[in-house]
Amino acid sequence: MSRPAIAHIRLDAFRHNYRIAKQQHGGNALAVVKANAYGHGAIQCAKAIANEADGFAVACLEEALELRQAGIQNPILLLEGFFEENELAEIVANDCWLVLHAQWQVKQLLASKLAKPVQVWLKLDSGMHRVGLSPTDYISAFKQLNQHKSISKIVHMTHFANADNLNSTHTVQQLVLFEQTMHATTGDALLETSLANSAAVLGWPQVFTQQQQWSRPGIMLYGANPIHTHLHSQTLRPVMQLSSEIISIQRIQQGESIGYGSIFTAARDTLVGVVACGYADGYPRSAVNAPVAVNGQITQVIGRVSMDMLMVDLTDIASAKVGSLVELWGDQVPANAVANAAGTIAYELFCNVKRVQFRYSDTDLTT
Ligand SMILES: *Cc1c(COP(=O)(O)O)cnc(C)c1O
Repeated sequence: MSRPAIAHIRLDAFRHNYRIAKQQHGGNALAVVKANAYGHGAIQCAKAIANEADGFAVACLEEALELRQAGIQNPILLLEGFFEENELAEIVANDCWLVLHAQWQVKQLLASKLAKPVQVWLKLDSGMHRVGLSPTDYISAFKQLNQHKSISKIVHMTHFANADNLNSTHTVQQLVLFEQTMHATTGDALLETSLANSAAVLGWPQVFTQQQQWSRPGIMLYGANPIHTHLHSQTLRPVMQLSSEIISIQRIQQGESIGYGSIFTAARDTLVGVVACGYADGYPRSAVNAPVAVNGQITQVIGRVSMDMLMVDLTDIASAKVGSLVELWGDQVPANAVANAAGTIAYELFCNVKRVQFRYSDTDLTT
């Protein structure tokens, strides 16, 4: 028997979540599948929605090429555009769309000779202050790009810093600056715009009042809601179920401690289950008292997570035995709950999953 640590990826759930994202926002939705689809497998996820997705977004050309080589023909947006001018020929040859987030990119693109015109997404820094052009630079870049022979179309984009915080006024300020800059750039022309990540799709319906919109949902497609206390959580379905099995059980007495650093000391006689999953599989070492489900019953991780194993409290789970199924996150244990216990976010948990067996299923296809 092989090691039972498994990441089960439910592609039907991924498809369901894509449809929710599209419905919630209206307009077109670019499915963000960067970083190997947040650790879920970019090719499998992209193929699962290829015949309905308006397009995909990835971080870089290498990620786009992986999809093209797998036969994906939908539009693909490069969220960081190009890093070196010599990527442009291949970007054009592979029909990718290009974010322009810095002035050096605008300059180099305008100076290069392309085999055919490229679609660009011009990114305004409306207040996140990571990448994007300032309003002044944006207006001048637009003037240079507009109707230039190398450019087939310009989509106007920006990115929110705090859309996951429904109480923050920052999102509204960003939106206002975006709208002002659009007005200064093009007057009242009908624009194609793209503002919303998952948190904006779920939490900021005001963002959709613009004209022709492209949303850019990422994390919600994988079934994790970036807004902690959000209504729509139930309608999203977790895509990844990370599971393993109990490989050993022992009883320790009150006062005894377990694992590295002896950080857990039993307050009562305790039945300890050892699970074949550790931080080398991507389970966060920083998790403290994280929830976990054994045979469908919720209990918690105890002691320090080690490289290949972690321990759980089985004292109250009468059915537990060697071989019992343990869900680390998935349907019973939200990835967000484990992320909270580890002081991080579900994004990071998903991206870190490795070494485990990946198994794909799609119940839409087997019915
Ligand atoms: C990653 C990314 C997204 C997706 O964000 P989520 O929070 O996962 O929905 C959208 N837009 C840009 C520019 C990104 O880099």
